[in-house]
Amino acid sequence: MDQFQQYIDGDFQNGSDTFETVNPANGEPWALMPEARREDVNNAVASAARALRDPKWAGLSATQRGKLLYRLAELLEKNAKAVAEIETRDTGKIIRETSAQINYVADFYRYYAGLADKMEGAHLPIDRPDMEVWLKREPVGVVAAIVPWNSQLFLSAVKLGPALAAGCTVVLKASEDGAAPVLTFARLIDEAGFPPGVVNVITGFGPECGSVLASHPQVSRVAFTGGPETARHIVRHCAENLASSSLELGGKSPFVVFEDADIGSATNSQISAIFAASGQSCVAGSRLIIQRSIKEAFIERLKHTAQNVIVDDPSDMRTEVGPLCTLRQRNWINEVVESTIDAGAKLVAGGANIDRPGFFFQPTILDCSEHPDAPSIRMELFGPVLSVLTFDTEEEAVEMANDTEYGLAAGVFTRNLARAHRMINQIDAGVVWVNSYRAVSPIVPFGGHGLSGYGREGGIEAALEYTKVKSVWLNTSEDTIPDPFLMR
Ligand code: NAD
Repeated sequence: MDQFQQYIDGDFQNGSDTFETVNPANGEPWALMPEARREDVNNAVASAARALRDPKWAGLSATQRGKLLYRLAELLEKNAKAVAEIETRDTGKIIRETSAQINYVADFYRYYAGLADKMEGAHLPIDRPDMEVWLKREPVGVVAAIVPWNSQLFLSAVKLGPALAAGCTVVLKASEDGAAPVLTFARLIDEAGFPPGVVNVITGFGPECGSVLASHPQVSRVAFTGGPETARHIVRHCAENLASSSLELGGKSPFVVFEDADIGSATNSQISAIFAASGQSCVAGSRLIIQRSIKEAFIERLKHTAQNVIVDDPSDMRTEVGPLCTLRQRNWINEVVESTIDAGAKLVAGGANIDRPGFFFQPTILDCSEHPDAPSIRMELFGPVLSVLTFDTEEEAVEMANDTEYGLAAGVFTRNLARAHRMINQIDAGVVWVNSYRAVSPIVPFGGHGLSGYGREGGIEAALEYTKVKSVWLNTSEDTIPDPFLMR
């Protein structure tokens, strides 16, 4: 079996223990992961805290930090094939997607490389003739970046990019599922030349590793992506230390199709919205809200595609849908699909495990139009399961789209520009795609509200979140301060 190491203080080392990681395509263990426990977490945080003050990092100009990020982007591209293969093997995500994703992960680092020396402070026009006042932006401190199993390299990039551009240091905790690509990525951090301790990469389980990291008093900010329940634990820890946080959580995103939509585009986008990454995507368009007049024809097209997508070995370039990342995840999906059918929903396609080794589940469509409170309409499944609702009027479409505790993303398909504008204004989500879905870019902020969390990743604002403002008052007068009892 392959054996991976954690990366602490510029050193590749074993963890306190090891655990096996499984290839989701065959269910077989293939590598040993280093398990970080309290001592490892403490070492990683102490190293990041030292690096924060060390002139090797603190003494670099913003431009020099940008150059390191730029080199990291180049190394990612150079090693794209090897990293993508490891991600596919450890997470089951199809090679088509992992190889394409590495390039835009590199683009995120490149964006923040360019931004590093553009996060300006300000000079304030103070109304005192003998004072100069300006604002400096300083790194917020040690950042704990905690990511889930899906798209770990991407979810790391949207945290590390802005944090490093701002001059912070980081402890990155990979998910216990599918950590291999992140631990491989640590080699590139090292090769790029970041000084020891600037980025530390560990993995381990929630209670023994994630929780210890999020509650560490030397951590100033927690950047978290994962589920709402874990997020609540994290916020409690942050409250204890008065650390700041950003939470990118899940979604139950509406995908609204009007009768005047370009049906070909709507079909392809809906297929990608729910079956790409086997539905293990926070922005999965998992609630199709379809106008009644086109429902039957649209569902028929989706059913035909769902039954004909190539579900196979994720390392094969032809494969369109791979396995789920874990057996636990597949069991959960089975449970919710079963309870949704028990609640009266109609099974249109799929609905069962695929009879082969590994954690494969059929692309599934459930018509919940008569049962809008069925479990699959309310709960995030994080799997290839589409639930359908039907509307007659635009008002009903808006009401259905917003009838969720989540607020991450939404898709609207219509050729009517005025209607598109009305929908954009009324849909309560952090991202709205019109006649498109699943588009991302480093320059566009991303995030949600409600059960989908708070804070934004991507764009300039995200980088500013990793800075703290220092207000400087400089007395330029050579006169002695006259009255000690007067505020100046
Ligand atoms: P999870 O919350 O169980 O785990 C996420 C990470 O948190 C893992 O690294 C885990 O080890 C760690 N963790 C677990 N318990 C912890 C604790 N008590 N303290 C600190 N860390 C702890 O999430 P998951 O099930 O692995 O991931 C799926 C979830 O992630 C879904 O809800 C999905 O929607 C969400 N997600 C959101 C986005 C987004 O950008 N909004 C992107 C991808 C995934």
